[in-house]
Amino acid sequence: MRIIACALMLSASIAVHAQQQVIILHNASLVDGTGATARPHVDIYLHRGYIEHIGPAFTKPPKGATIVDCTGKTVIPGLISAHSHLGILLNNADPSPNAYTTENVTAALNQFERYGVTTIVSLGLNRDLVYDLKDQQREGKFGGATLLTAGRGIGVPSGQPGLNVATDQIDRPVTPEEARKVVDTMASHHADVIKIWVDSAHGKLPPMPPAIYTAIIDEAHKHHLKVAAHVYALNDARNLVNANVDILAHSVRDQTVDSAFAQSLNQHNTWYIPTLALDEAFYLYAANPEVMQTTFFQQAAGAQLLARFQAADYGSKTLAAEQTEQARKDHAIAMKNLKTIYDAGVSVAFGTDSGAVPGRIPGFSEHRELEDLVAAGITPLQAITVATGQTGRLIHALNSKLNVGLIQQDYAADLIILDADPLMDIRNTRQINAVYHHGVLVPNTPPEN
Ligand SMILES: [Zn+2]
Repeated sequence: MRIIACALMLSASIAVHAQQQVIILHNASLVDGTGATARPHVDIYLHRGYIEHIGPAFTKPPKGATIVDCTGKTVIPGLISAHSHLGILLNNADPSPNAYTTENVTAALNQFERYGVTTIVSLGLNRDLVYDLKDQQREGKFGGATLLTAGRGIGVPSGQPGLNVATDQIDRPVTPEEARKVVDTMASHHADVIKIWVDSAHGKLPPMPPAIYTAIIDEAHKHHLKVAAHVYALNDARNLVNANVDILAHSVRDQTVDSAFAQSLNQHNTWYIPTLALDEAFYLYAANPEVMQTTFFQQAAGAQLLARFQAADYGSKTLAAEQTEQARKDHAIAMKNLKTIYDAGVSVAFGTDSGAVPGRIPGFSEHRELEDLVAAGITPLQAITVATGQTGRLIHALNSKLNVGLIQQDYAADLIILDADPLMDIRNTRQINAVYHHGVLVPNTPPEN
């Protein structure tokens, strides 16, 4: 990323109030997030944090506006991760029950934002601090990616997720009645979505009984909250869809899915978040160490994680690990299933599970996920549409006050200016010239670490 020194380096936190002057992104090639192909020679007017107007490039600059010359550049909406995590790792590297702090969470939100991920859903494993942080962010007290949250999330005792988090980062009710109470509490905190874990980790951990998840789904729907499920196996996914779960928050990975399964998602209006970058993150840096060569990667990873991945024995140890063989298989099935699901017209949303374990790196994972979506067989334009306008529809369904994901009048002025055309090569989404969030240029200097 290029350092942009300019007078607009305000904190994005005060953006909505601060962006009084009109900014015109002039003569851009616009990919607006609707699925329409690039529109050349466009002016995009940003005002008070929103897209005010889009029109043909001016021939004479209007008075009183700040002009940003975007000649030769492509503008896309800010990316949206509907499945990420906060406050699980210290320095992107080490899981710790002490990681869920204001400092750590806000640093991650800033990192997402620098990488053009302007909205995230923190899909479970949050301490209740998250509700305060969300409120403070809405009040403009700090910036970073716009935060939505599932709060703690719900598992079963001794079950998934088997992560090293504090006990107050997840609820584990035993009875359907307890599960309903947990949902009521989350609703009282204004959680944006309810998260459940329905997965036995290949039979090693106790699964969530149907009586528990049906109670959770029913109670959540009473509160007009959607339910997102961590899922791995096709059988669990089928049962959840039939129980009216709203979002499958991972790919089905134990076997390939057929068009009948895809059609059932359509019939039930179930969203599908493929998180393709998830399994791959277990071995990517060992199998393809060249991905670590860029500043783009290194700044996202941070010094501690980078040192670990670049250690002499990391590659050989990782590639020999039993987990790697399983992750490769899971990744291959996830890729195949995504293509089947996408072609059937299912509502696919974008997410990565970034922040959950080392290697799923906030910001980097999202750009890698775009590359994976294309490798799975959809076009760069379709991948960008999934990550922006399409996931914006899901965000709006979770919180009707948020209009994000499109570069259209009255949508949030959240966008990325790219130095190279992402429709030619999806990896060009990493050629970030500038990120605007709420109409304000995001400082792109990472903190020292
Ligand atoms: Zn997750």
